[in-house]
Amino acid sequence: MAIKESGNEQQSNKMNNDKKPKEEPGIYKDLKGFVVGKRFKFSFWYFLFIILAMFLINMFFSQESNITGIDYNEFKGLIRNGTIVRVEIQQEKYLGYTVTKAQAINMLQGSGTQQPPVQAFSTYALQDNSFIPLLDEMNVEYYATAPPKPSIFSTLLSYILPLIFFLVIWRIVFSKLGQGGSGQGVLSFNQNKAKIVAEGDTGIRFADVAGADESKQELEEIVDFLKLPDKYTEIGGKIPKGVLLVGPPGTGKTLLAKAVAGEAKVPFFKMSGADFVEMFVGVGAARVRDLFRQAREHSPCIIFIDEIDAIGRTRTAAGFGGNDEREQTLNQLLVEMDGFDSRTGVIILAATNRPEILDQALLRPGRFDRQVLVDKPDLEGRLAILKIHTKNIKLHKDVELRKIAQSAAGLSGADLANIANEAALLAVRAKRKQVVQEDFEEAIEKSLAGLQRKSRILSEQERCMVAYHEVGHALAAKMTKGAPPVSKISIIPRGINALGYTLQYPTEDRFLMNESELIGNIDMMLGGRAAEEIICGEISTGAGNDIARASDLVRRMITEFGMSERFRNITLPSTTSQGFGGTREYSESTQEYIDNETAKIVNNRYQLVMKRLQDNKETLEKIAQKLLEKEVLNGDEFESLAQNLVIA
Ligand code: ADP
Ligand code: MG
Ligand code: ZN
Repeated sequence: MAIKESGNEQQSNKMNNDKKPKEEPGIYKDLKGFVVGKRFKFSFWYFLFIILAMFLINMFFSQESNITGIDYNEFKGLIRNGTIVRVEIQQEKYLGYTVTKAQAINMLQGSGTQQPPVQAFSTYALQDNSFIPLLDEMNVEYYATAPPKPSIFSTLLSYILPLIFFLVIWRIVFSKLGQGGSGQGVLSFNQNKAKIVAEGDTGIRFADVAGADESKQELEEIVDFLKLPDKYTEIGGKIPKGVLLVGPPGTGKTLLAKAVAGEAKVPFFKMSGADFVEMFVGVGAARVRDLFRQAREHSPCIIFIDEIDAIGRTRTAAGFGGNDEREQTLNQLLVEMDGFDSRTGVIILAATNRPEILDQALLRPGRFDRQVLVDKPDLEGRLAILKIHTKNIKLHKDVELRKIAQSAAGLSGADLANIANEAALLAVRAKRKQVVQEDFEEAIEKSLAGLQRKSRILSEQERCMVAYHEVGHALAAKMTKGAPPVSKISIIPRGINALGYTLQYPTEDRFLMNESELIGNIDMMLGGRAAEEIICGEISTGAGNDIARASDLVRRMITEFGMSERFRNITLPSTTSQGFGGTREYSESTQEYIDNETAKIVNNRYQLVMKRLQDNKETLEKIAQKLLEKEVLNGDEFESLAQNLVIA
């Protein structure tokens, strides 16, 4: 049943941050097509089996022809009566034969037709001075030999058996220890746990990834290169070696990487950062080497390192051992990445949701110098994702996916996939043949309740507040002289702190700003809170950051840039970085002036912004409603809505 299958998939995908599905050790999976080859699985049991077999074979073949053990007395009797004609004297044993050497050789050569059956007797030698004289007397052929050497096998065995014994003990102990951890043991270290999985065809195409068009566009070039490398190399162009996919969990990074391999139809080597990190120093590095060696053998191909932050974390200067293993692994990764060029057709993709903690060395040119942002989907993106994940689900004709997408603001692709499946399960539970709208609503609720703590899901009221806040920023910016134009307004929660944001162009830091631009920026920052006050009659914590930045800027205008009335063109160095507290090179009264002046400027600007927004309250409402509906407004849309502003 389609529902159930996708259910399992979603489930495991949802958990893929903490638990990886177990893969069969030691075997390269070739799901579709490509045979990637089997790796010899070093199993201790095979080893034991071989030893035993050797031992048995040895026993079987080295069996000496039947020698009858007899008493010394008897032995002597046989010599006396002429039965034994040849004696081999060993250190503590006599061997007696009924044929002479010459006869034995004759028999071996097949001459001499009727042969008496050859018999051999052995006995333990006694201290008997009359023995040799007896031999002489009976004319028995005799000679001494060294005792037969123990066979190589048994020698080997005597060394190997204890070894095996220790191995058994070792394994038992370590597997016990290992079971303590989650899933695979902390102490497990053998090579075959390395999950090098080469999928011939991932079965994923770009069409399976919805709502990440910008990310897809950037990755298309990689696909193109893998398909037609000559096109690039002939011109001498360089293709990036490594591409880092950056984005919150569940946004489809892993999916995108698979899609790249699927589109290019190349093998896909996937390993998770955590797979490299083991307790034993050197294992991670060995795995990296192994991974790259495999990849080179199967080029063109893609190496995908999921959750690279597990190994790529910034190296610490002072480490007390603890991080040695991770650093070695990271170093090995860097070495391997430097060691080949992309013309070999191996491209490394990696994914992380914490790019800021990655070691700078990883991001240098020639390594992961290209970053692709995979962000949470907007409304259209969510709708497209829902469509993909409801493809195999029977929907009632009244189901409105757009509505569902609307109420799922801030959710990731993985969450949506989960919701689609959950809705199907709810329908089954209610013994319905089709999934109805209520199923989806309940699924979303269920999902939100679980997610509330993890990711920020805004209540309807909060969303409304955020929308007005952001539009307030945008309008304030538009109505002031120095602020740059608005290029995007969004109320999709992002990053750690932003519930929404207003992007302006240019966004990068400016080196030079004139006074009116600074004032314009202050207006812009205050616009958010002003809008909240106008619409809701009260202010919220959402503007805390804006307020801090605005007052900081005003203070710097006064103390650093010399832009105040009283201290025009005079800097007032305040806290310096020398030690605690710093120094202040002005009087108490100046400090008071700075404080007052800061408050005055901020207040004046705030009143002005308030007035301007109040005068355009209708426009503010109109744009905010539009934003609530669409979640994202680009610069042009904003401009067309924000015409006919009244500016006093
Ligand atoms: P990430 O690696 O970014 O944490 P995954 O690629 O593992 O996220 O996504 C988990 C699952 O969520 C995918 O297998 C897919 O079913 C679903 N999913 C996530 N993003 C998308 C998307 N943009 N389009 C379609 N499905 C998605
Ligand atoms: Mg992932
Ligand atoms: Zn703000």
